[in-house]
Amino acid sequence: MVFRHSKRLYSALLLSLLLLYQQPRAQVQTPPADTTATDKADQAALHQALLDLTNPWTVMCVAAHPDDEDGSTLTVLRRKYGIHTVSLFSTFGEGGQNAVGPELYEELGVIRARETMAASQVQGSEPHFLGFRDFGFSKSAEETFRAWGEKELLRRMVLQIRLLRPDAIITNHDTTSGHGHHQATGRMILQAFDAAADPKQFPEQLAQVSTWQVQRLFVRSRGAETSTTTISIDPNEKDPVRGTTFAQQALSGLQKHATQGPWPRTVPASGARVIRYSLVKQTSSATPLPENAKTPVDGLRLPEQVAAKLVAPTIDEKPLTQFIDRRLELLVSLLSARRRGVFTAPKEVFDLDPQRFKLMSSRLNRAVAAATGAAVYLSSAGSELVPGEEAKLEAIVANAGIAEIQIKQVTFRGLGAELKLETPDKMPPGTEVSADVKVTTPRTYALTVPSSEHLYDGRLFGEPLDMEAELTIEGTTFVVDNESRRDIVPQVEIVDVKPSPYVTTPATSQKPLDFHVRVQSHLKTDFRGLLRMSGPSLETGHEINLKPNGAETSNLVVRPLSLAGQIQGSELTVTVDLPVPKEPIAKRTVPLIYADAVVVSARKVGYLPSYDETLERALAALGVDAKKLSVDDIAKSDLTPYHTIVIDNRGYEAHRDLIGANSRLLKFVEDGGTLVVFYHRLNEFRSEFAPYQITLGNERVTEEDAPVTFLQPKHPLLNFPNKITQKDFADWVQERGLYFPKEWDQRYTAILATSDRGEPLLKGGLLVAPYGRGNYIYTSFVWYRQLREGLPGGYRFFANLISYGRRKED
Ligand SMILES: [Zn+2]
Repeated sequence: MVFRHSKRLYSALLLSLLLLYQQPRAQVQTPPADTTATDKADQAALHQALLDLTNPWTVMCVAAHPDDEDGSTLTVLRRKYGIHTVSLFSTFGEGGQNAVGPELYEELGVIRARETMAASQVQGSEPHFLGFRDFGFSKSAEETFRAWGEKELLRRMVLQIRLLRPDAIITNHDTTSGHGHHQATGRMILQAFDAAADPKQFPEQLAQVSTWQVQRLFVRSRGAETSTTTISIDPNEKDPVRGTTFAQQALSGLQKHATQGPWPRTVPASGARVIRYSLVKQTSSATPLPENAKTPVDGLRLPEQVAAKLVAPTIDEKPLTQFIDRRLELLVSLLSARRRGVFTAPKEVFDLDPQRFKLMSSRLNRAVAAATGAAVYLSSAGSELVPGEEAKLEAIVANAGIAEIQIKQVTFRGLGAELKLETPDKMPPGTEVSADVKVTTPRTYALTVPSSEHLYDGRLFGEPLDMEAELTIEGTTFVVDNESRRDIVPQVEIVDVKPSPYVTTPATSQKPLDFHVRVQSHLKTDFRGLLRMSGPSLETGHEINLKPNGAETSNLVVRPLSLAGQIQGSELTVTVDLPVPKEPIAKRTVPLIYADAVVVSARKVGYLPSYDETLERALAALGVDAKKLSVDDIAKSDLTPYHTIVIDNRGYEAHRDLIGANSRLLKFVEDGGTLVVFYHRLNEFRSEFAPYQITLGNERVTEEDAPVTFLQPKHPLLNFPNKITQKDFADWVQERGLYFPKEWDQRYTAILATSDRGEPLLKGGLLVAPYGRGNYIYTSFVWYRQLREGLPGGYRFFANLISYGRRKED
């Protein structure tokens, strides 16, 4: 569509801008030879902003966990076509494993949420979370529905569809295969497709949102068949703007999910697989999917009045992306579009699809901002907010463009305040202005740290602070905005108390309890106060002095709590107190646990930890003479002083060079040692690492209360030095074990059998075999989760594992 008056307006603007802009035009058109990475990124951002003006459609990708999203398709849809892409995750993935650090559960959920944000940036998509608890691997949709609530899952999905209003939905999950969370998510999105459009479903939501009819729903198809109801997305095409293929971009997005690695380093030379989706649902009013459709929205049509108001601006009827190197013309065209009211509509048309108009309008604002080089943000200094303290924030408005910008109004919104900031009224090209934001964090504001306690309450990323600048170039007004988030922190934060929980055993219950407490001041002044620990009939503490924003790690040693029964189920409280009045300003609790677990005397244990301190803590709690080993120690040092060596879960993955040193471990066993190897994933452990064949399978036992059978009730591992009973398998967390061996040499003895209810018994979870003068143990049970949780049964069994074998004569 051509606007009659646009040419004239365009010429007038061009002329006046030319006068403003003094440099010769040739320089604008030819980028300097040494284009830096930032220039390239700016160029890509501008290109994206211009492309976005051409596409009014929204596609939603539905996934159960972070890293289940189809990053390749999301990347192609946004980067190639400018489609607005959102992803919807059922959980934060906190029930998964962590391949890079010690965090698990809610702490892992926080990291995975951040990884998802980073991956989304690469894909150009917008992540949203339903916030269901990830309780670990489950095998059926039914188990998942029991935990989440079937109706609640539908309710949250429907609300997000009504809020985000996708035209098409895609998902990797079918209704019958894989993880129970996947099946449940795949099954429910089919229902949500219809329910979101039905005013009788969740009518209470309609006070906040309208019903919404998604046009099409696609499920990833693993077969190679193509038909008229299939779309194929080939991510191997090179993105001319970014110089890499979409598959390469998607892979670098996937790699952001680092806790779930290792990921492939490169796209295979033969290229990434072509992705196929089958159309499984379509509204009766939707246009049929055209043959050879390239995107889920191909062929969809908007009502005519709406479409007429969503026509992208052009120059000489060519898309603006073709003018990326002609900044001035681009700028003039965008300002003229803004002035003409492109993407706005009379109320009766606007009301037909308000969200789409708002989306396209904000896209136009973003394109203008990218073309003008205008930006507004809060400086990163003083990044945290303390209730009752002045927030020391600074607003920056920048002009990285080629024309002078007038500042009409800069507004800060946040912390219950709306402030109009004092700024100069114009910014020449290449300059920025700043303004103090004088606002005090209300005393009543609740903290957002530790983040792991805010996974489900919507305050995970902190308090939102909005900046908005109303700017003018040549009489045309446009808006740039920016939302950032800051944590609300106490004056002084207890960052960490180690160990927690505190486990004692008969060997350690008479020793003083030794804690390390890390505190961090968030004050801009010195802090003087008390670090205190109190518990059942004890109290200790000392003064602490912290510099502005200073941190320190303090030792707190408390006398032994002599009676085992007395500490069971109790906890210690650590506080930071103001000296006067003696008022606690930060608090943490530490559970105290007594485990009746003993290790044979004078045992010396070496251990190779993988991702956390669980082994170190457990061995200390058992009072064992233990030494942390490195792969280098294993490869080169004398191992004869050790009775037992423990390789932590996924140790061959965490330490790739351990494979090269493995013959030393086998020699250690041959010479009389006991080697205990914790669980590994299928592809991480090869049979030749063990003295005799062990072939891992894919089987898991996910019910943490699955029955456990003692196959060899008289075996020392079940009797010495601790007599193991069913009680030791009560109250387990997360699961029984994973990647159980499916085949093993007959020289191994299988000690325990278990399985999820209704499934075949798995007998390979704990295998032990004599080798040379020593013993080799491989175990797929998740002992580490039980040790970390402080489960007495876990300590009793672990004590038997490290006590196993003779060598007592040494
Ligand atoms: Zn998943």
